[in-house]
Amino acid sequence: IIKECLIKSWWLMVYFPSPASSRSMASKTPVGFIGLGNMGSPMAKNLLKHGYPVIATDVFPESCKELQDLGAQILDCPAEVADKADRIITMLPSSPNVIEVYNGPNGILKKVKKGTLLIDSSTIDPSVSKEMAVAAEKMGAVFMDAPVSGGVGAANLAKLTFMVGGVEEEFTAAKELLGSMGANVVYCGPVGTGQAAKICNNMLLAIGMIGTAETMNLGIRLGLDPKLLAKILNMSSGRCWSSDTYNPVPGVMEGVPSANNYQGGFGTTLMAKDLGLAQDSATNTKTPVLLGSLAHQIYRMMCARGYAGKDFSSVFQFLREEEGQ
Ligand code: NAD
Repeated sequence: IIKECLIKSWWLMVYFPSPASSRSMASKTPVGFIGLGNMGSPMAKNLLKHGYPVIATDVFPESCKELQDLGAQILDCPAEVADKADRIITMLPSSPNVIEVYNGPNGILKKVKKGTLLIDSSTIDPSVSKEMAVAAEKMGAVFMDAPVSGGVGAANLAKLTFMVGGVEEEFTAAKELLGSMGANVVYCGPVGTGQAAKICNNMLLAIGMIGTAETMNLGIRLGLDPKLLAKILNMSSGRCWSSDTYNPVPGVMEGVPSANNYQGGFGTTLMAKDLGLAQDSATNTKTPVLLGSLAHQIYRMMCARGYAGKDFSSVFQFLREEEGQ
């Protein structure tokens, strides 16, 4: 009986492979990519570099040009991408954009094929990730949340950290793709847990950035040279990512947004959005997040005062302007 069962299950596996196994066998089949902004564009380029044909779209045609020149096929809408690819990555600004791209009239779910792996790397509300997973499952597809940490520099160098939530059996298939764009791919648990990890990280990042900007500003007013102060902080207990990798003071580091009038990088609006997600999550779980709340208010105020399009490290410039009043 056992022998018969084994033969039967082998036969079933060969003739009716599970979605995960059929996808991994076709590892260099086209990958769909939706959202070619600051992060999505370098991520999609790394997929191309690793030999994956890329089929992409973005509402802003200008964003697609560079990738098209590198050989990607550009289509008109997410539904068209879903018609052609059985693995799709989305990298969009916020929850409403993700809902539109998945559930909208020209959305992925209109044309998604059974067994398609949908990986959303946007930072959004974990409850929206869960909703998308349910909607995808109804269509026979699999949805995973895989937000990233690392910024544009890490996206360019394929050194992102992916925090992945979803069905564990699909993690290997997701990791194969995400490994071409990142240095770390970490499984966090059921769908939505990748977002939870990301939201926590960004709340700490915002608090750290504001703290670094305040500290640097105080030191400068006390007569310290900003480069020297940064050097001392970076060999002392005040060191953090905002002080040693992404210093907010112009002239301290090269190749960071503060060296380029806060252009590029991680937008203040996006940080305000992530802090809003942290606030919602804290309210839902009755968690005290005092500094997180303050950071949220500071970044919202910055958006209202003309900093929305600048990198979030422009909080240093914001503090300097506040002083002058
Ligand atoms: P971005 O605004 O530069 O890019 C988003 C892209 O999505 C844009 O090109 C936009 O045109 C496109 N888009 C929006 N709606 C669309 C739709 N309906 N159909 C197709 N395309 C659409 O944003 P980004 O900086 O690339 O960030 C993307 C996500 O990654 C955000 O959730 C952000 O919080 C997160 N993130 C960003 C950074 C960073 O340093 N920039 C770091 C980590 C995580």
